[in-house]
Amino acid sequence: MKTKDYKHIYDCIRNAVSECYSGESLINKTARRAFTNLLIGTPEEKQDIIDTFDLECCRVCEVCGELMVEGYLLDSSTLCSDECAAKWYNFQFKNENITPEDFAKLMSDGDEDSEWYWTEWF
Ligand SMILES: [Zn+2]
Repeated sequence: MKTKDYKHIYDCIRNAVSECYSGESLINKTARRAFTNLLIGTPEEKQDIIDTFDLECCRVCEVCGELMVEGYLLDSSTLCSDECAAKWYNFQFKNENITPEDFAKLMSDGDEDSEWYWTEWF
């Protein structure tokens, strides 16, 4: 992710925290702890922070556990890249074995009403 994405995520967490807590120092401390867990926590810890504060600005990749501000939304699954999306696809459709390149092509050929698309969570 880019530096501006980190700043955006921190601001988003700080806003969410300030709705749950009062007092500048408690808000800052809680926001910093949540931000740190989002960056270096396990995928479960990251998801827990997103759920706890109802964050709209980021998601966790279901395959590799990376934090992301944009990525694929496939049904209700969130995936960060063609590589992770191809792994997800092959897992869902067990007889298939597509490559990341195949997946990218599949998406670019897809129809506009598809439930599968690339999006930003900003
Ligand atoms: Zn991923």
